[in-house]
Amino acid sequence: MLRLYDTRTRRPETMVPENGRAVRVYTCGPTVYRFAHVGNLRSYLLPDLISRVLERHHVRAVVCQNITDVGHLVDDDAIDPTGEDKILRQARAEGRSALEIARFYEDAFRRDTAALNMRAPEHTPRASESIDLMIELIAKLIEMGHAYAVDDGSVFFDARSFPSYGEISGNRLDALKPGHRVEGVDPRKRFHADWALWKGTDRDMTWEAPWGRGFPGWHIECSAMSLRFLGEHIDVHTGGKDLRFPHHEDERAQSNSAVGHDVVKHWVHGEHLLFDGRKMAKSTGNVVLLSDVVDAGLDPLAVRLAFLEHRYRQQMNLTWETLHAADRTLRRWRQRVAEWAESPSRPIAADHARRVQDAFDDDLDTPTALRVLRELERDESVAPGSRFETFLHLDHVLGLDLSADIGRPPAVPVLPPGAAELLEARAKAREAKDWSASDRLRDELAVLGVKVTDTPQGQTWS
Ligand code: AMP
Ligand code: ZN
Repeated sequence: MLRLYDTRTRRPETMVPENGRAVRVYTCGPTVYRFAHVGNLRSYLLPDLISRVLERHHVRAVVCQNITDVGHLVDDDAIDPTGEDKILRQARAEGRSALEIARFYEDAFRRDTAALNMRAPEHTPRASESIDLMIELIAKLIEMGHAYAVDDGSVFFDARSFPSYGEISGNRLDALKPGHRVEGVDPRKRFHADWALWKGTDRDMTWEAPWGRGFPGWHIECSAMSLRFLGEHIDVHTGGKDLRFPHHEDERAQSNSAVGHDVVKHWVHGEHLLFDGRKMAKSTGNVVLLSDVVDAGLDPLAVRLAFLEHRYRQQMNLTWETLHAADRTLRRWRQRVAEWAESPSRPIAADHARRVQDAFDDDLDTPTALRVLRELERDESVAPGSRFETFLHLDHVLGLDLSADIGRPPAVPVLPPGAAELLEARAKAREAKDWSASDRLRDELAVLGVKVTDTPQGQTWS
């Protein structure tokens, strides 16, 4: 069975479905105020892989991925975020309404995830359409003494009413300092680490509540939607590692306080993606979108393959070079699968398939799975028809469309964008006997995946 590293228990845990044959997976969805960058997209691959691997064990995953279209404030790593709503800020910048912004970027998100062969989750509730659920949950927390309303209509969670706060991230309440805000601790709070469940205010995207007009806090959104769509027993909760604190600690405190037991059994977090050695983040201007990858002439699934070359829990550094390399591997595998498809079908290579399955089960060890696949590709002792069946079998989890070239005429090699110009420049450099320019251009072509060979008749490429 699938084992995943649980951030809270700090050890690998077996994913045994709590209720029969379904595993309930909640994953924090996008805040839809901009295009998702490939770093974000890496985090969303995690629930997709979990559900594909579980399917291999005849267990169905029911995935809920919310859409945050209100309540996510700029200062989201503070225990109680302040500042402007990310969507309202973007709406102002683009001169459009908050709703237009939210729907536009939600559509873009769906296109990106579909291009990466991520299956659509069973539930995709929008925060702005789940306000009643949040109000109901907040009312319950107030009634139970876990939350309190203040004069301006805001409601705060009473952090000290949840003694096991901090189990996921290690940030225990007694270690949380009052913070470095210039204005000091918010006088409306009973305790500095309390956070807002509801922000009392009257502006765009606000709703009436029994304690006053306002909008929900980002953390209560995930509690309300996960409890409503998956129930009080959720097997796995995923997200990028930055969400461990405060987002997931706060969600855990809210949900557990409301129902009286641990709602989420396993917390699983993905490591961050770096690009050219730096964290991919809009704030640092280091952002690559899926559309940039497609514009560079690469298959979007090259991104998926590049992700799979690293375990989700490993920090990974993406570069244009690794993306080009992944694109070449993808094209080669599709061609090989198409060639093998011409041979009579044979049973799958059981040993290779089992080793790949074991790797998937071992905390989604996708690098090992890909190593076994490469080994099988080269293993001439395995019949082509058997390699064909095994590659297709494993593609159910890999999701790389490895059968895409079957039945197509053999591919005519096509130069990647920019390569023709480099080849021409190199031919000229050689004519002029400028060997250092010639070597440099050969290296540049190699980065694009073009191998140049010099013959007495001039240069050729492959
Ligand atoms: P957001 O839309 O900003 O709420 O973020 C969506 C998801 O992307 C969250 O799960 C984050 O943890 C994740 N995320 C943000 N930056 C990165 C990154 N550089 N690499 C991987 N995941 C990221
Ligand atoms: Zn969330």
